[in-house]
Amino acid sequence: MRYSRLADIYEELEKTSAKLAKKDIISKLLKSAPSEQLPRLVLLLIGRPFPAWSEEKMGVANQLMIRAISKSIGVKPSEVTRKFNEIGDLGKTAEWMKGKKKQRTLMKKELTVDFVFKNLQSVARQSESGSQERKMNLVVEMLAHAGPKEARYIVRTVLEELRIGVAEGIVRDAISDAFGVDVKAVEASWSLYPDYSEISRIAKEKGEDGLKKVRMEIGRPIIVLLAEKAPDLKAALEAYEHPALEFKYDGMRAQIHKKGDKIWIFTRRLENVTKAFPDLADLARRGIKAKDAIIEGELLAIDPKTHRPMPFQMLSTRIKRKHGVEKAAKDIPVQVNLFDAVYVEGRNLFDTSLEKRMEELKRIVRPIEGRFQFARQLRTKDLEKAEKFYKAALEAGQEGLMVKNLDALYVPGRRVAGGWLKVKPVMENLDLVIVGAVWGTGKRAGWLGSMVLGCREPGTGKFLECGMLGTGLKEKKSKEEDVTLEQLTAMLKPLIEGEKGNQVMIKPKVVVEVAYEEIQKSPTYSSGWALRFPRFIRLRKDKAPQQADSLERIKALYKIQKGKGSK
Ligand code: AMP
Repeated sequence: MRYSRLADIYEELEKTSAKLAKKDIISKLLKSAPSEQLPRLVLLLIGRPFPAWSEEKMGVANQLMIRAISKSIGVKPSEVTRKFNEIGDLGKTAEWMKGKKKQRTLMKKELTVDFVFKNLQSVARQSESGSQERKMNLVVEMLAHAGPKEARYIVRTVLEELRIGVAEGIVRDAISDAFGVDVKAVEASWSLYPDYSEISRIAKEKGEDGLKKVRMEIGRPIIVLLAEKAPDLKAALEAYEHPALEFKYDGMRAQIHKKGDKIWIFTRRLENVTKAFPDLADLARRGIKAKDAIIEGELLAIDPKTHRPMPFQMLSTRIKRKHGVEKAAKDIPVQVNLFDAVYVEGRNLFDTSLEKRMEELKRIVRPIEGRFQFARQLRTKDLEKAEKFYKAALEAGQEGLMVKNLDALYVPGRRVAGGWLKVKPVMENLDLVIVGAVWGTGKRAGWLGSMVLGCREPGTGKFLECGMLGTGLKEKKSKEEDVTLEQLTAMLKPLIEGEKGNQVMIKPKVVVEVAYEEIQKSPTYSSGWALRFPRFIRLRKDKAPQQADSLERIKALYKIQKGKGSK
């Protein structure tokens, strides 16, 4: 198949916003694809030439792509950069430049899907020294033969931002539609084998029976069970007949696989992080008695001296690390708090109650105090005892509690109310001032896409940075009270005081109310504090900047957050 045909389909998908119509387009394509090409097409539609858990990454940043575009078209990198700053999308920049510059057709060969696919894989596989140049040459090789539209999508795929609005749910529905298999069978097999390229092949060749035979396999991640939000602790306790309360640790979920002496570690988003955590692999090898198992826990960084949990930011410096892994393991040791077992010695435990899964977990794990241990748990329906436990979790610097139904089975993927409920303190909204912004890219090109928030410093009248706001601001209005990026940009543009790259400094005039998950200490923001996941609530036109919340208020809320009981 020609890549230009796929580029047409990408464009059609990009222009269509209705999910159903998108599904139809994909389903038609999958139906017409020959078996050997089907898995590649599915991966290309999702936008990566590898399944999610593959350790391979494209590893091409904007700067390298700018050089590749400039080389393939024969213009200066500064020209590409200038156009990119104007359009905000390197794919479209390449398309525009290709369109302007007519190529000598003699040199051009037709790009096929197979060629592009193999080339994309090669880009990701260059890792030794000189890899950046080789990556760039591979991209240049594709771009040299690409037409404008093909260039748009090659560039975006290499940058891992295809932006055609094809979520995995649409691919799931399209596979069901194309091969006449039940959508539930597609979803169930995918949760055990989360790679739609393979699932589509099985659906086509073996139908529903084939899908039902898909099994969990050690070394391949599974889709995990998620939690629902509970309004408060009391409601969570009342939700289940047999609740088990656990600390909700503020770390990284780890799916630990063991087969003999071999260990794999996956994140909740299926990334393979085994190489970044040799220390955890070692703990798992010592701590898991079973030969074969998949267990889950929350990973925390701990202080090497005091052994107390450290903030998530410390752990995050280890997650994607490729170099200096051994030293990082010494400087920032980890602790895992185990809470589930999903596979033991050949048995899939999805259809087993939590109570039984916990028994299995206890049976197969030999805890290593402080390093490889069980999550703290309390089984009670008594509100007073539960509140004490909740307070203890917050005092220990953790996020809150998970309230789990001991009778529930393991349902991967969905946030189902029957299984786990999370209880976290509700934080009071803050009124903050916009002191800066960043020009948006992609769908947000031409608008100020995210805003730097500032809190008031009493005494000096200055505003100190305390977070980045992007969530809650709309691209289009769907409710009367929505504030669009366009409106906000129009309001902020006259207040721009200076620019640095794609960032602008803004005169502190506009006050916004924001909600957030939590306040954290921050080494990067000038206030020393950062709001976690700030979300726009509304404009506070009634408030002057000097009436915005102060640094002192943030400090006070941080203290309350630490000691907060049930609310
Ligand atoms: P959330 O990400 O807020 O939806 O909360 C769910 C996440 O909490 C899980 O994916 C885990 O990473 C994390 N977590 C922390 N402690 C626990 C626990 N005891 N049981 C289950 N998940 C936990």
